[in-house]
Amino acid sequence: MLIAESLRPEHFGHARTGAVEITDAPLPRQANEPPGDSGGSLYAPHVKIYPKRAHGSFRTAKWIVMAVTLGIYYLVPWIRWDRGSYLPDQAVLIDFPARRFYFFFLEIWPQEFYYITGLLVLASLALFLVTSVAGRVWCGYTCPQTVWTDLMIAVERFFQGDRNQRLKLAKAPWSVNTLSRRGATTYVLGGLAREQVCIYMCPWPRIQGAMFDRDSLLITYRGWRGEPRGPHKAGQSWEGRGDCIDCKQCIAVCPTGIDIRNGPQLECIQCALCIDACDEIMTKVERPRGLIAYDTESNLAAAGRETVPIKLIRPRTILYAGAMAVVSAIMLTALLLRPDLDVNVLRDRNPLFVKLSDGGVRNGYTIKLMNKLYAPRALSLSLEGLPGAKLSVVGLENEINPSVTVPPDELKSIRLYVNLDKQAVAALGGVSTSFDIVIADVATGERMEHSAIFQGP
Ligand code: SF4
Ligand code: SF4
Repeated sequence: MLIAESLRPEHFGHARTGAVEITDAPLPRQANEPPGDSGGSLYAPHVKIYPKRAHGSFRTAKWIVMAVTLGIYYLVPWIRWDRGSYLPDQAVLIDFPARRFYFFFLEIWPQEFYYITGLLVLASLALFLVTSVAGRVWCGYTCPQTVWTDLMIAVERFFQGDRNQRLKLAKAPWSVNTLSRRGATTYVLGGLAREQVCIYMCPWPRIQGAMFDRDSLLITYRGWRGEPRGPHKAGQSWEGRGDCIDCKQCIAVCPTGIDIRNGPQLECIQCALCIDACDEIMTKVERPRGLIAYDTESNLAAAGRETVPIKLIRPRTILYAGAMAVVSAIMLTALLLRPDLDVNVLRDRNPLFVKLSDGGVRNGYTIKLMNKLYAPRALSLSLEGLPGAKLSVVGLENEINPSVTVPPDELKSIRLYVNLDKQAVAALGGVSTSFDIVIADVATGERMEHSAIFQGP
């Protein structure tokens, strides 16, 4: 069997040589070219990458992840959740006009934004944990930019063909044919920016290196097995040489256009397509698969003399998992103890008090009642801890035991006055004192006391 003979870039014609397909290439842009290649600029001129289609288990896994993530993205808005006649029935909804976040049975008010913060902290810790165990799996499989770029490349492949056809099309002069084929694929991030987002815009590749250690699983070229590399003819001995036949298929499929054989690089999103490409080649040249594979630095250092077991439980992973458990427990407790009525009392600052003509003193308050139930709620108001005090609610001055009805899922603001007559003011001694405003649910009797200050003259 003839295998990849003298496979140098200048020899890359569009050809099939028995078992191994050799791609027409300018090799993809080498994203790791030194800055000098871009005239000293930190931004290398964009050379479009035309990744070849890879086949294999990792490619299949990526298709499945794409279907699941896009399925969630497109289908979740159609899921209904009955919250009664007053509220939207979309299960997951960020309602900007009403300033609410609905997630199935949960409803987050603007005042409860700390739940979202907690969720983001939890997501970050999960990302740290996953990265320290298995490298950039987020980037390679589930990052929206990766999924969209992957989808855009699939669409492009559908309309324009695989790598070599797309390269030809890119070089062809503009015509109705090129315009109609290429015009399908020019959405800004997925069609144009693509890997540029990962290389130049995304901060995550700059941070994630801090999560790796010698036992993190990363996509790696096993140099100890592959070197010295070089073209190999069918029937030739493998003695004294490495398994890499320098066919560059791993570069041809790479969506960021790098050569994984140069070691870990910031541009590598760990998508694993080079594993599929190289495994296919290894199968064809009848060498063991896994020349490029998920591996740890510890195992690489052993260079095949022994197999270093994968350590999932280590100080770093324990730290991240522990932090996740703590944040989850705090959030769960807060959610379980979450009140369905929130009360906020604001005392008037100007004036602090008003002297009445009969010698008494009045303090004013604004009370905000937040009804988080999906039904109207009648609430009565009373005072405790301030002898001789009289309470009146603006608009309900004639009621001895005033009660207000708060509509479902709404915030109601009321004005309330507390009056002390001359004798009670004298007993107060001219200082401020604290007392309780009691809010009780008329239907259930459930009470909530809120501490307030009464300011004397
Ligand atoms: S690592 Fe594998 S795919 Fe890449 S050049 Fe070597 S043999 Fe080819
Ligand atoms: S080097 Fe391999 S894992 Fe990294 S981005 Fe390229 S194809 Fe994906």
